[in-house]
Amino acid sequence: MRRSFCRARRDALLVAFVVAGSLLEGGCYVPPPVPEVPSWLDAARTGQTPSAEEEGLAREADESLARVVEEDGLVENDSFDRYLTGIVARLIPELPAAAPTLTPRVYAAVERNAFALPNGAILVTAGLLVELENEAQLAFLLGHEAAHVLLRHQLLDERFGAETDSHVDRMWLSRHLEDEADELGFALVTSAGYAPDEAARMLRHVRDDRPPAWARVTSWDSHFEAEVRIRAMRVRARRLVREGRAGDVVRRETFLEAQDGVRLAVAELTLEAGHADRARELVDRHLTRHPDSARAYWLRAEITRAVDAAGRRAPTVRSDYERAIELAPADADAHRALGLLLRDLREPDAARPHLERYLELRPEAVDRRLIERYLAPRDASP
Ligand SMILES: [Zn+2]
Repeated sequence: MRRSFCRARRDALLVAFVVAGSLLEGGCYVPPPVPEVPSWLDAARTGQTPSAEEEGLAREADESLARVVEEDGLVENDSFDRYLTGIVARLIPELPAAAPTLTPRVYAAVERNAFALPNGAILVTAGLLVELENEAQLAFLLGHEAAHVLLRHQLLDERFGAETDSHVDRMWLSRHLEDEADELGFALVTSAGYAPDEAARMLRHVRDDRPPAWARVTSWDSHFEAEVRIRAMRVRARRLVREGRAGDVVRRETFLEAQDGVRLAVAELTLEAGHADRARELVDRHLTRHPDSARAYWLRAEITRAVDAAGRRAPTVRSDYERAIELAPADADAHRALGLLLRDLREPDAARPHLERYLELRPEAVDRRLIERYLAPRDASP
């Protein structure tokens, strides 16, 4: 099935890309014609409705999305989702009814990438989200992904694929679609008043570590012409400045404030993925903005413990748990963690009130029987 994707195929495509690149430079490559697929932006004029083929693609996308939600999950945060939706609405105030509804969400993955599905879902990975510096960069990312949907790139890719099996042709199409999405994304973002030079900066944050199968057509791919694309963005930005049409909306603080709601969730994901240093950086950044965040102290202690065996008993682990409890006395996780640490440090009397408080705060705790055993007088010392 053409839609399936594997690493081997991807490597073959990379080789083909190099060949295509040299052919293109030599000027002797003539790509097959790109199928005509009118943009959703023209739908009001052209009366376009989704084709049966496209409805099939949207159904496949619904299934992929359901699997994503089930397997890796989304970073659930209503206010951040509303923030993302608000930016998309600012970029594309009106869409014809026939077009898919654009729904941006945060995908719980530490890679730095973003994807658009033909059903209108736009997924930005948590890993990329925390790299971005301001709303203008996020807007360009969303604008680029929205452009893939509006320009119906998956349908176009499908039809092009029916015409040719050549890797060189496919590579050429892939570059062509990225260029189109960059161009429309840039136009949407700058028309909404965002500062044009943030688009090139945004491109620097993307890494195409491991695009999932369902995102083959629209995943960002820094191997492909990253520098060329960045240069093209700068040229576009300079032109707008020269013509006096450049906006200056950056919204750094608004963006960081929105990010506050998801930063620690991303740090936890990053720790689970084994990148303790990166997780620590995120927690420290959060503490700089919110020195009274109990959850950040708790997480910092968890990270220190995860780094190495000696870290488990580091004095900062204890003080971070204590600070977490001081700031949030009803945090069951922090009481449990501190109680177990003190037990480990052979301070059973100090451990006891925290373990008791943990069971009080979480009567349904899955480890209740174990903790009760620890609390029993005959087993008070480890
Ligand atoms: Zn793209």
